[in-house]
Amino acid sequence: MTIQQSSEALIETAVPQVPGAPLVKSRHPETQALHGGSFRYDPATGAVAVPIYQTTSYQLPGTEGADKLFALEAAGHLYTRVSNPTQDAFEQRLAELEGGAAALAVSSGQAASAFAILNLARAGDNIVSASGLYGGTWALLAATLRNFGIETRFVDAADPEAFARATDDRTRAYYAESLPNPKLEVFPIGEVAEIGKRFGIPLIVDNTAAPLIIRPLEHGAAVVVYSATKYIGGHGTSIGGAIIESGTFPFAEHAARQPNLTEPDPSYQGKTWIEKADAIGFFPYILRARAVLLRDIGAAISPQNAFQLIQGLETLPLRLRQHNENAIRVADYLKGHAKVANVIFPKFQAGQAAERAAKYLKSGHFGALVGFELKGGREAGRAFIDRLKLFYHLANIGDARSLAIHPSTTTHSQLSADDQLATGVTPGYVRLSIGIEHPEDIIADLDQALAAL
Ligand code: PLP
Repeated sequence: MTIQQSSEALIETAVPQVPGAPLVKSRHPETQALHGGSFRYDPATGAVAVPIYQTTSYQLPGTEGADKLFALEAAGHLYTRVSNPTQDAFEQRLAELEGGAAALAVSSGQAASAFAILNLARAGDNIVSASGLYGGTWALLAATLRNFGIETRFVDAADPEAFARATDDRTRAYYAESLPNPKLEVFPIGEVAEIGKRFGIPLIVDNTAAPLIIRPLEHGAAVVVYSATKYIGGHGTSIGGAIIESGTFPFAEHAARQPNLTEPDPSYQGKTWIEKADAIGFFPYILRARAVLLRDIGAAISPQNAFQLIQGLETLPLRLRQHNENAIRVADYLKGHAKVANVIFPKFQAGQAAERAAKYLKSGHFGALVGFELKGGREAGRAFIDRLKLFYHLANIGDARSLAIHPSTTTHSQLSADDQLATGVTPGYVRLSIGIEHPEDIIADLDQALAAL
């Protein structure tokens, strides 16, 4: 049972998994993307496409029923800041596709990362994070959450034991991106999740750059975060984010470590979130994120954007195959080009990075981000971007269209030259997000831009 279902059809089949049960992988991703979750059709009209339930509020079922809804003892919607049937269908489908137990959709990827951490950490607490992060996440952790009294200890993911060394009694979570750019070195998910289990600390993985091709929950991560704005949407029309809980992390066994979930919450009848979730057969982490953080901070996804993101999700497996195939073609092309000094792509990595790519990436898949360094340095990088005709010049990834950016003079321009180098951004570095156009057209555009340098 989820707390937000609105119809009999939804209620019947809504328990994806039992807490503690192993992840169940039933149908294939292509099928789950279209049929995952309990929505089959709209019970009122028979509509097969998930309707946009554009409403702020819902008729309550009499005073006794309302009491139960407000106490989270019965399933149903109250107010769209906290739940909505279109959002619910998106959440259930995404949870199933990711192999998780429950999901919460929010207004952006940034809201998802913030909620994922705020759901566990309070002022005076800390988290340990890999240092290879999207700039917005870095700013959130290094500045904004610090101002809330939550410290982030940044460590190098090349050394998983660094997470253990940075841990103390107030560490509430580990955080990382599965495939961080610009270095594109896959994060050691299983190794760090194992360390977390020793301490009772859940690993949160931002899997935005690698949906379906990296499966963090299967390697022991407790929570997956997405910017759905990228591959999940794919169309580039809608900002959105999501948090998915594995359903298998034993929060209840680590009372001292996880007070947000195991201490009584005065705003909910003095019960703990473990108790509230157990009482309705649900999952404490997502239940609290919705009932507390969405209620209080209100970063709700709009029904319209939830609908748009469902449209994207339905073709995600298909699109990813083409993204992946095209990226390999592009990386191979660039590798052989005389004006290119170096291509950054998991297929070409060596040593530990290659071992991790082989362990965590789906066989034959390397993602759709391709970095390369021009021999001509900064000026060549800028000139190359200006000559592109098909590629869009913009600061985004995961669109169906091919995108390019010169990080040194845009996304990373506020960093000193040394800091840029430390993050892997050299002066001639160009980042490509390879789309699903025909690969020959993508390569032709790169070819003409390189020829003109
Ligand atoms: N995580 C990663 C890896 C990202 O690349 C981004 C955005 O670029 C975000 C999170 C933030 O997502 P949003 O823009 O949807 O807030």
